[in-house]
Amino acid sequence: MDTIRMLIDGVRAAGDGTLPVRHKATGEVIAEIAVAGASHVQAAVDAAERAFRTVTLSPYERYEIILRAANLMRERREEFAAALVAEAGKPIRDARGEIDRAYQTLILSAEEAKRLRGETVPLAGAPGCENRMAFTIRRPLGVVCAITPFNFPVNLAAHKIGPALAAGNTVVYKPASATPITASMLCDVFREAGLPAGCLNLILGEGGRVGDLLAADERIRMFSFTGSVPVGKALRNAVGFRRISLELGSNSANIVHEDVADVRWVAERCARYAFVNAGQVCISCQRVYVSRSIYETFCEAAVDAARGFRGGDLMDVHTQIGPMISEREAERIDAWVREAAAQGARILTGGARTGAFYEPTVLTDVAPDMKVVCEETFAPVFSIVPYDAIEDAVRAVNDTRYGLQAGVFTRSLAVANYCAEHLEVGGVIIGDGATFRMDNMPYGGVKDSGIGREGPAYAIRAFTEEKLIVLNVEA
Ligand code: NAP
Repeated sequence: MDTIRMLIDGVRAAGDGTLPVRHKATGEVIAEIAVAGASHVQAAVDAAERAFRTVTLSPYERYEIILRAANLMRERREEFAAALVAEAGKPIRDARGEIDRAYQTLILSAEEAKRLRGETVPLAGAPGCENRMAFTIRRPLGVVCAITPFNFPVNLAAHKIGPALAAGNTVVYKPASATPITASMLCDVFREAGLPAGCLNLILGEGGRVGDLLAADERIRMFSFTGSVPVGKALRNAVGFRRISLELGSNSANIVHEDVADVRWVAERCARYAFVNAGQVCISCQRVYVSRSIYETFCEAAVDAARGFRGGDLMDVHTQIGPMISEREAERIDAWVREAAAQGARILTGGARTGAFYEPTVLTDVAPDMKVVCEETFAPVFSIVPYDAIEDAVRAVNDTRYGLQAGVFTRSLAVANYCAEHLEVGGVIIGDGATFRMDNMPYGGVKDSGIGREGPAYAIRAFTEEKLIVLNVEA
């Protein structure tokens, strides 16, 4: 069995113990990871700090290394995808899709290395400053820590490591314990692409313990975290004045207005956005508010789409849905759906669990305080709620502590504009669902969904310090 070791200062390192890594569909142990202790975390930060002080790569060299890493990853697309199938339980088509996206993310990051720019400051406009001029430059922060979740382990790591390195930082990378295989492969491609030792260090182990050790090391200047709200909040409290970006969860909603051209098409799209990656997407379609006049048609089409969503062999390109990340997670959502049903919700289709697999499930007659509505389900389950006035729909979408993205299906410019103005989210997607994301978009949330924006051109601002230079031309 493979032991996945950490990467510290360019050298593979064993840990203080090991943890098993399971195939998410079969439950079989497929590898084990080395588990970091305090000395490993310290050594990783030592290495990153030393590399930050001693390695001098020009922006163009950083561009070339990240580009080479992207190309190496693309060459190994099938190996990466097969690893994702096993460790994350993704159907092969989705796994390949994630690698293709991660390639784009790294390309975008490489380009940002050449575009780091500040701005001129019109200092001469201040009284008595006629002979002064000023401008800003962007400088790297130093050691940054990237912590990633299990659901898009390669692309979300690329969204942190890519811009962090492009900006000239060094990185300590802590992936989810469920998905360490692709994390290790990603470090390999950077090493083979010519990234000097110490610039990217891989730390493995249980998030609680390793996370505390990382948070306590004051040499880490920034944390870039994607994951759940409770962990994000705890990390926020632990890092004090240091910089942090948080990409957290949501219970994303879509509005489907009565004027849409094809109700069935929209319902199918919402269903796909609810079930892709077994619903384990931070902008998964969880709530759909539908104009009452098209509600029945929408529900029928959503049920048809859910029943047509194919499970099966994860290596079959026609398979659309795989297991959830663990049986425990499937049990959790099963309990939430049962609780909702006991409180009056109707299960239109689905609602059954087999091990870690949960059936595509559509609910109606839900209430705002049911867990399946107000908490993040992170499972292939969505609820349909009728509305009469668009103002009611917007109020319902906003009635949550989350705010990542929202989708609005309408042909009315007035409705689209009203929603764009009033929805309390980081992004409003008009003519498509909340789940739409391209990797060059500014992406992030408001409220409990997080702080900051990803997308390499936006993330790189957070990974740099803006420094002011003032010139007294009379001196
Ligand atoms: P999670 O349990 O919060 O874990 C995320 C990462 O944090 C993992 O690497 C985990 O390590 C680590 N971790 C756990 N406890 C920690 C601690 N005390 N200090 C520091 N790090 C710690 O989340 P998940 O279950 O992997 O992912 C699902 C969540 O991520 C959902 O809420 C989803 O919405 C969110 N998400 C958000 C976005 C976005 O862009 N907004 C994208 C994807 C996912 P271990 O695995 O070792 O525990």
